[in-house]
Amino acid sequence: MSINVENKTNQVSQTETQDYIKKVLQLIEQKEISKEDAQWVTKETVENFRNHVNPGFLEYRKTVTKDTQFAAVEWSDQDSCFTDVNGKKYIDCLGGFGIYNVGHRNPKVVKAVTDQLQRQALHSQDLLDPLRAMLAKILADITPGDLKYSFFTNSGTESVEAALKLAKMYSDRYTIISTTKSFHGKSLGSLSATAKGMFRKPFLPLIPGVRHVPFGDIDMMRKTFESSALVGEEVAAVLLEPIQGEGGVILPPQGYLKQVRELCDEYDALLILDEVQTGMGRTGKMFASELYDVVPDIICLAKAFGGGVMPAGAVVANEKVFKSWFENPFMHTTTFGGNPLACAAAIATIDVLLEEKLPERAAEVGEYFLNGLREVANEHKDKVLEIRGQGLMIGIEFHKDEVGYEFSKALFDKGILVAGTLINSKTIRIEPSLTIHLDEVDTVIKAFKDVLPTLKS
Ligand SMILES: *Cc1c(COP(=O)(O)O)cnc(C)c1O
Repeated sequence: MSINVENKTNQVSQTETQDYIKKVLQLIEQKEISKEDAQWVTKETVENFRNHVNPGFLEYRKTVTKDTQFAAVEWSDQDSCFTDVNGKKYIDCLGGFGIYNVGHRNPKVVKAVTDQLQRQALHSQDLLDPLRAMLAKILADITPGDLKYSFFTNSGTESVEAALKLAKMYSDRYTIISTTKSFHGKSLGSLSATAKGMFRKPFLPLIPGVRHVPFGDIDMMRKTFESSALVGEEVAAVLLEPIQGEGGVILPPQGYLKQVRELCDEYDALLILDEVQTGMGRTGKMFASELYDVVPDIICLAKAFGGGVMPAGAVVANEKVFKSWFENPFMHTTTFGGNPLACAAAIATIDVLLEEKLPERAAEVGEYFLNGLREVANEHKDKVLEIRGQGLMIGIEFHKDEVGYEFSKALFDKGILVAGTLINSKTIRIEPSLTIHLDEVDTVIKAFKDVLPTLKS
């Protein structure tokens, strides 16, 4: 990959920097963007990505042409769509990797966050902050089984970190069983559990004691429990996504999660369910664990938890486990986690999910979507290997990586955003907001139908 990088030679005066800042702040303030401004924004964005963010992105983003004559720069969003700086609208079926469950800038979430912002943005870190307490109570109400205590984070990887630390502290053990094709985040701890060799290799060794077994293979899981116990390295916890997201939307075999729960109980190990992507209504239930009738000891949340407005995450654990942090609540902390804006966003998000029955809607619309896609794919078995999904978490698996890439590029030209999954690039994900209109679903199915014959198989 050849990348042009400009040397940082010409020093900029402070006045120039201040003028630049003023121009940017003015753009943020403006309701409408003019043609000239849009051109300026595009040029600045591409150049600054090249010189100051990471030029590698310009090679990867399918939205940027080779000579950067054309580059799609996003500017605004609403409902199930976002709009680029030139006013072209896209149906968002990537959903920011699954963060827009209640839609883009859901008015109720935006209202709660702006109302809170008028009063207080971040917390004192010393007095008791009310929204944290109330959100924790709401989570205890809506999460499965006896999950009761919450620790709040800013992202999915932080939720997984917290869960791993809690499991270690509770059990005084360090063996963690994860699965192949899993994705749990990219900070050093969560990366230890993530499966893809390419992401892990430069950072090895990661935290010790993490074993990966094939997802869905209960015999291998049992053998790993047995042998870990035999060698005196008893299992602290199993960490699983109920449905693997980045692995390519992989559903567990019948009975798998229940069997894993039983193994955990037999060996006195904890079950951590990473519902960072499957949670908040995505799969047709508020949490995917409910689909399989399994109660974890710890659940990890993030992505859609902040309603697509604020970064927010949480781990919720049962009392038996969370008690480990009662004596010294400073064993694991974060300055921003659980801040008032994030809590306001999460509370409003849960309100929207419940009031508008979005989990149920995800189940219905998901089935309609899946059926429509399958009907089209049946005519093109040479290209499409499988279409699978649960609720509005849908994967289209092609026979080859290149076809997947070509497909997402072709859909992009038609104003529909889809993208591959991080661990499995043959599989394209469809994860729109749960509020997506049926006519938008029809538009996507029609585009799928129109584009498939044009792909080289
Ligand atoms: C995205 C994801 C993460 C990581 O979340 P970040 O907010 O990107 O750190 C962890 N687990 C699962 C299942 C995810 O899909």
